[in-house]
Amino acid sequence: MTQTRRGLLIILSSPSGAGKSTLSKRLLAWDPSLSFSVSATTRQPRPGEVDGKDYHFLEEGEFKRLAGEGGMLEHADVFGNYYGSPKAPVAEAIGQGRDVLFDIDWQGAQQIRNSDLGKFTLSIFILPPSIKELRRRLETRGQDSTEVIQKRMAKSWDEISHWDGYDFVLVNDDLDATFEKLKTIVDATRLRREQQPGLVVHVRALQGEFEEML
Ligand code: ADP
Ligand code: 5GP
Repeated sequence: MTQTRRGLLIILSSPSGAGKSTLSKRLLAWDPSLSFSVSATTRQPRPGEVDGKDYHFLEEGEFKRLAGEGGMLEHADVFGNYYGSPKAPVAEAIGQGRDVLFDIDWQGAQQIRNSDLGKFTLSIFILPPSIKELRRRLETRGQDSTEVIQKRMAKSWDEISHWDGYDFVLVNDDLDATFEKLKTIVDATRLRREQQPGLVVHVRALQGEFEEML
């Protein structure tokens, strides 16, 4: 009997500014079948961010209600704001065999890895080439105040210190080269035996053919 493939939960984490949003956008453009887990957050939208597309921007009370009702796959306090991944859209996508991409911090990655869905996750940590370059990227992104950048830089080591809990680690020096490596990781993981349930049927058919030949 053909089993349906369950989608992967592909998690990207990094200190703020290392490039995970940029890499996520490229990955989504490369593979339109991939769905993005739009997180809920209590932080204020940045200029150009669209509610429902970049994030679901919620009031704190609403966020807590949703989390309290068990509507989040994971949630955490990051830089003094709440962030979380709504459960329903992820369950729907992976149930249909579609892979879901998460741009979340180490706390969220850990919660998902420790959940029932842990065995379906692929986690990738993005390191910056240097701390100096990390600061430069946060500054040139030009979307956060000096105060916010300071706060993010101060927390960067906390995030980096969890690098060794991930399946793969990439140093995002040259963007194109990092993206190529990221695609290789995704492609290879999709070829893992347990990601191809149809193989059982295929191998049985090969066996039947083989036995007929004897
Ligand atoms: P994050 O999502 O991890 O906070 P972003 O993807 O927003 O980081 O990247 C922060 C800034 O660094 C952006 O302006 C982005 O264009 C830039 N950037 C990302 N990757 C690279 C890279 N490999 N080389 C140079 N700049 C980069
Ligand atoms: P930003 O405010 O720059 O968009 O995100 C700040 C940090 O929060 C990033 O490290 C990002 O990965 C993380 N983050 C975004 N969404 C979620 C989420 O749903 N859950 C968790 N745990 N972290 C998130």
